[in-house]
Formats: sequence, structure tokens, C-alpha cells
Amino acid sequence: MMQTESKVIVALDFANEKQAAAFVEGISSDLCKLKVGKELFAVAGPRFVEGLVDKGFDVFLDLKYHDIPTTVAKACQAAAKMGVWMLNVHALGGRKMMMQAKEALLAESHQPLLIAVTILTSHTDEDLHEVGLSGTAEENVLRLAKLAESSGLDGVVCSAQEAKALRQIVNKDFQLVTPGIRPENAERGDQNRVMTPEQAIAVGSSYLVIGRPITQSEDPVATLQRINQSLLA
Ligand code: C5P
Repeated sequence: MMQTESKVIVALDFANEKQAAAFVEGISSDLCKLKVGKELFAVAGPRFVEGLVDKGFDVFLDLKYHDIPTTVAKACQAAAKMGVWMLNVHALGGRKMMMQAKEALLAESHQPLLIAVTILTSHTDEDLHEVGLSGTAEENVLRLAKLAESSGLDGVVCSAQEAKALRQIVNKDFQLVTPGIRPENAERGDQNRVMTPEQAIAVGSSYLVIGRPITQSEDPVATLQRINQSLLA
């Protein structure tokens, strides 16, 4: 299977570079893409991300930028220079921030996909009301996804539960990147509402973010191959 064909993005949620590197050593870039989040980026930094890119991996840099438009645009350009495949910002940063970020990326020779986080799944409706957002979490997710799309972004991070409703209101090439995935028989861990990889793709997900079921697996390569295989049908 070609690298670009795997819909699986493995979340490299490791506390240090050594552990992350040991995991990456065992897998190849045709099996999956990789997600580097705030924790690993804080300890391992840009050189580690560039190393993954040099090995041929598509890297999703999950730093969820949210700042004034100029700062976010410059941070996006810096990420593009690392060669990442995808990066993200908070949709709550607003239209100007998202538009400027996308414009800044279009000026780069390497142009990563730019997606938005809408509402963090850790937020309840109550939490949203407390920070001044009315309506339910789902209403906010749908509104912010449309805002991201009309600001020129390439997609959103969303739960697979939201994917179905989102697919009805966004263009078909708008990327829905979904965590909360658990293959059949996998431990749920702290994820409450989960879907299998096949279910998530069936409801409209473009890419699946999967962490522990792969990183903590006895045999990550075999687990990845099983998941990739399950999505080929
Ligand atoms: O180990 P697990 O498969 O639960 O990892 C899922 C990854 O997706 C983690 O990096 C987590 O931070 C991220 N994520 C999530 N739920 C969200 C957004 C991101 O699980 N709503």
C-alpha cells in the first residue's frame, strides 16, 4: 500500500523523543501517517519532526494554534518549512485568523493541509455556556466547521459521531479527521464514545487518528496492517 493511501494517523503520544523514536523505528511510512502533538513537540522539537518527514512520513503537526492572525500565519509558515503534511488552528480564533493562516501557507513552496479544531470534545454544553457560547456543543461544532470551510480551510478535527452531520453540510473534499477510534476488541481507555475504523469511514471520516490501540499494541505493524486491510473493502 502506498504511503498516501493509508487513512490512519498514529498519534505519537509519547513523553520523550526516545520512546517516540523507538516506536517509529519499527514502522514504515507506507503503513500510516504520524501525529505530533504539544507534549512531544515541546520535548523533541522541529528537528524531530523534520526527521520524520525525511524518513518519508506524512506528519500532522497538532499544535492547535490560536492567537492574533499575524502570529498564527507566521507559525503556520514555520510549520510548512518543517515539511509537515497537515497542521491545525482553533476555529474560535475567527475568520480573519483562519484566512490569514491559509493565505500565508499558499505563499509557501510546500503547502500543508490546514484544518481547524471546532469545539474540544472535553467541553460540555455547560462549559461552553460558562465561556459565553450559547447553544449545544454540536450546534457550535457545525457552525464553526462551516466558518472554517468558508475561511478557506481544508477540513476539521471532529468526533466520528459528528462526521455524519458534518458531511451533510460541507463539501465532499473537506477533510474530516477523527479521533476516538477503537478497532474491534481494543481497550477503550479514557475514550467514551468510540467507533471502529470501518464505521468512522462509513460515516464520512477522511482520516482516523488512532493512538494507544497501535502504540501500546504488542505488534504495532500487525495492528496497522489489520486496520488498513479492514478499510480496503
Ligand atoms: O490513544 P487514543 O487513540 O485515544 O489517542 C487519540 C489521539 O487523538 C490523542 O492524541 C488525543 O489527544 C487526540 N484527540 C482525541 N479527542 C479529541 C481530539 C484529539 O482523542 N477530541
